[in-house]
Amino acid sequence: RDYDSEYSFKYTDLSTTLAEPSQLRMKPDVADLKFGHIFTDHMLKIFYHKALGGWQKPEIIPFENISLHPAAKVLHYAIELFEGMKAYRGVDGRIRVFRPDLNMQRMNLSAKGSGLPTFDGMELIKTINKLLTIDQEWVPHSEASSLYIRPTLIGIDGTLGVSQSESALLYTILCPVGAYFSGGNESVSLLADPSYTRAWPGGCGDRKMGSNYGPTIRVQKQATSQGKQQVLWLYGDDHQLTEVGTMNIFAFYVAENGKKVLATPPLNGLILPGVTRHSILQLAQEWNEFEVVERILTMQDVIKMQKENRLLELFGSGTACIVSPIHSVDYMGTEIPIPTMEHAKPVFRRILDRLTAIQYGHVEHPWAHII
Ligand code: PMP
Repeated sequence: RDYDSEYSFKYTDLSTTLAEPSQLRMKPDVADLKFGHIFTDHMLKIFYHKALGGWQKPEIIPFENISLHPAAKVLHYAIELFEGMKAYRGVDGRIRVFRPDLNMQRMNLSAKGSGLPTFDGMELIKTINKLLTIDQEWVPHSEASSLYIRPTLIGIDGTLGVSQSESALLYTILCPVGAYFSGGNESVSLLADPSYTRAWPGGCGDRKMGSNYGPTIRVQKQATSQGKQQVLWLYGDDHQLTEVGTMNIFAFYVAENGKKVLATPPLNGLILPGVTRHSILQLAQEWNEFEVVERILTMQDVIKMQKENRLLELFGSGTACIVSPIHSVDYMGTEIPIPTMEHAKPVFRRILDRLTAIQYGHVEHPWAHII
């Protein structure tokens, strides 16, 4: 089991207070949905108080602001972590969540990394499924859209001092989302500037902690001001590629021995263990048509392969966009064109098609959990 609290909250203890009809919000037009701007009618809250024996009973309530002590540890020391997963309305009308068990494992790892309480992931999945059932009309009736699920865990002790929080709040909010990048699944340009680092050995870049994200804003702004859409995060003197924006990175290339290879950096502590990353590795291994490796890729590798016309595709992967093809990398003042979009049947497209077929129920698959 991946949690170590003596006692986890339980789905069977859940209480539900439904919103009054007058509190219900207008559902937005999914065509012009901006990521994370509109939230559904209900939310889930579970408190943890060590002094009261730990986890309290889960509650589903009308969506509301939360009230915190001004000294709450989350506000000072970023004692916070979150998850991101999605519910999809299938072609059969049923709602599917993609591999929530993996998000629960990762959430417990992040909790351990923050000194926050762990819990039984299955109990949170069941509780979130109930929230989804209540707000099911918010799951868009469209294959370009989905309902984003944001479980969040914060340390709420109202005491200053960098120490473990003995009380916490786990809450979950939902928002209908369209395409993550404006313009849909277009390819993106990247800024790769080795003077910035997202993660380092012995750090916490492999956990989904809020403290990893705040410091990326100024770098993303830098990329935007240079006309690039995303940051390619490099690490080390050899300028290793680690992640792109808030996505894992994949390269598809022809190795020196002539064989085709799909590669992504290994989980060496610098990489967030993406659910999409893991799924892509599993799919590609099943296809068994090209080599699939976890290896370090440096900018010199990219430049050499690109010069020798062996680099076929670069793309990011993540829950928000599934896959995001890359068409150029700006590195040390040079624009490196990447031919990702120039192939008749790119691998990124095949992966996107397969994952969306699973998510929207075109095929039955154990990764899609019907609620
Ligand atoms: N890297 C980072 C830094 C992220 O924030 C995310 C989004 N969770 C990912 C990668 C992709 O992970 P996933 O496929 O689980 O969404």
